[in-house]
Amino acid sequence: MSKKIYTNLKENAADMTAAIAGGTPASDHKIFYGHQYIDYADIKAVSDVLRSDYLTCGPAVDAVEKTICEVTGAKYAVVTSNCTAALHIACMAAGIGEGDEVITTPITFAASANCALYCGARPVFADIDEKTYTIDPDSIEKCITEKTKAVIPVHYTGQAVDYDRIREICEKHDLILIEDAAHAIGTKYKGTPIGSLPGTSMTCFSFHPVKTCTAGEGGAVTTNDKDLYQKLLLYRSHGITHDQALMSHPTDDPWYYEMVDMGYNYRMTDMQAALLKSQLSKLQLFSERRDQLTKRYNEALKKLPGVILQAANPDSETTRHLYILQLDLEKLTCTRREFFDALKAENIICQVHYIPVYYFPQYEKMGYKKGLCPKAERLYERILSLPLYYSLSDEEQDTVILAIKKVLQHYSK
Ligand SMILES: *Cc1c(COP(=O)(O)O)cnc(C)c1O
Repeated sequence: MSKKIYTNLKENAADMTAAIAGGTPASDHKIFYGHQYIDYADIKAVSDVLRSDYLTCGPAVDAVEKTICEVTGAKYAVVTSNCTAALHIACMAAGIGEGDEVITTPITFAASANCALYCGARPVFADIDEKTYTIDPDSIEKCITEKTKAVIPVHYTGQAVDYDRIREICEKHDLILIEDAAHAIGTKYKGTPIGSLPGTSMTCFSFHPVKTCTAGEGGAVTTNDKDLYQKLLLYRSHGITHDQALMSHPTDDPWYYEMVDMGYNYRMTDMQAALLKSQLSKLQLFSERRDQLTKRYNEALKKLPGVILQAANPDSETTRHLYILQLDLEKLTCTRREFFDALKAENIICQVHYIPVYYFPQYEKMGYKKGLCPKAERLYERILSLPLYYSLSDEEQDTVILAIKKVLQHYSK
């Protein structure tokens, strides 16, 4: 990306902050791990909807679904209120239910496993690859039983999983493959955009503000399968249809509709859809800047003793969502908590992605115990997510890098 475009957008953002906050930029010099980027075009897109006839179920929803198809190469896209809802209706459409098992990774947000629970199924956690931090195909195979119905790999940090191996395993064992691509809008695997990979049944995206593109709250499911598409439409909206072909008691009464299945209200509003469409028009810029920042971190950190970088999957052309710093604790005199606090003292507010899902009390209650996935548990003890977002400036990133060097020096053995 040219420096010039980025600078223009930055100025634009500064103007806008001043305009919205009445000249008082909300900066307290803290650098957070993530932040959305909203420009004039985004604001205009939302306010145009507010002046229109449709706030929901309107043309902005159809338009952004078309855009998502263009971006991902998928035949169909169904936008939802968030990615958690997307994962839920994807599991429903896949026919996941009572007695089934669904394999996923513990190094993810709770929603990747909760969607199985919503359907009465049991999440089963496969361990991760200790270098790429994504789900390990060998571990998936070990988790398969006669109850296994689906696998939900997560393109963690935006980097594609070892997809072809996972796909082979799913084909061999007749399992449904649903990708959690909450981190991975814009990522390609062997040249194909995530969202339309061969062999996948459905792919779920998140448009939460910390993700690469935002709708405020928002999600989407993409698929190439028309039957699944029709199910997703039903489950998104109460199981209600206006399509006579799907009705049990079709009539042409103009007011008539039928609830033909159990569904939910998981719809996205037109305001969210318009914001998302405007954000997706900047995906290329967002992606390039995130890549640039990732490379700058890699360059600055790769030779430092005490830190380990996430290994790249050579098949992934990554739109990076998270930058993970792994602490080589054996070479340091501090704990992860001390390292985190030391960065916080420098006004750098990191986060940890993620606490292994089965650590949560809700999962403990269901009988899950520590020790299930040793590599995931070890990784969790050692990681931090560094600031990474489109509008992070080189100067801010240099501040982060300098702070890391300072803290590392302080705690080196
Ligand atoms: C953010 C996230 C989700 C949930 O997305 P929402 O849009 O917040 O519901 C699911 N899976 C992963 C891996 C996520 O990071």
